[in-house]
Amino acid sequence: MLNIILMGPPGAGKGTNAKRISASYKLPHISTGDMFREAIKNQTELGMLAKSYMDKGLLVPDEVTIGLVKERLAKDDCKVGFLLDGFPRTIPQAEALTKIGEELARPITHVLNIVVPESVLVDRICGRRVCKTCGAPYHVTNLKPKVDGICDLCGGNLVQRADDNEETLKSRLNEYHHQTEPLIKYYSNFNLVHDLDGTKSLDSISEDIKSILGE
Ligand code: AMP
Repeated sequence: MLNIILMGPPGAGKGTNAKRISASYKLPHISTGDMFREAIKNQTELGMLAKSYMDKGLLVPDEVTIGLVKERLAKDDCKVGFLLDGFPRTIPQAEALTKIGEELARPITHVLNIVVPESVLVDRICGRRVCKTCGAPYHVTNLKPKVDGICDLCGGNLVQRADDNEETLKSRLNEYHHQTEPLIKYYSNFNLVHDLDGTKSLDSISEDIKSILGE
């Protein structure tokens, strides 16, 4: 059983690598950021609340985020395993996840930690584009679509995420260092952490992941 957490700072390539892992290992890809963006698009109460934090580069409060993930992990499709992308991001979230894992008999088996130097993150974030329709990730120089501004997969328009600007990135990195980085130690105590060099090509990262998770 593969119950995976994908960790790393904003711009490390969590979303891009998550899509590849989820396709290769047939695991549901659970991204709290995507769930919040979907809620914002649908203008739900959760969306309004999340937006007020996301626009400032701050984390959405734990109780909201934990409730959302707990509901999602209890769904039947997570029986075969799951891939968490962007959760947990705080120690209370990690502690809650350990408890949820025990309750559902779905404990975390691997923490994949994507390591990328900070200087690279700014360029990645500022050049990042995403498909408005299907969410597929692109980059203006590193991961270009075949046709400018158009998604290769679904033909949707490519846009910049509202929180992908230099100003918001500063708070997101600050949140990462203060709230999320301590999780590496938390999971190291359980011997679950595997570092990945996020500056390598996507294909060689996939190879590294294969050697950790198996074929
Ligand atoms: P992401 O798409 O993972 O970069 O997340 C975008 C934004 O959504 C973050 O900057 C946070 O504001 C919010 N968010 C996503 N996941 C979490 C989480 N686990 N805890 C709190 N806020 C989150």
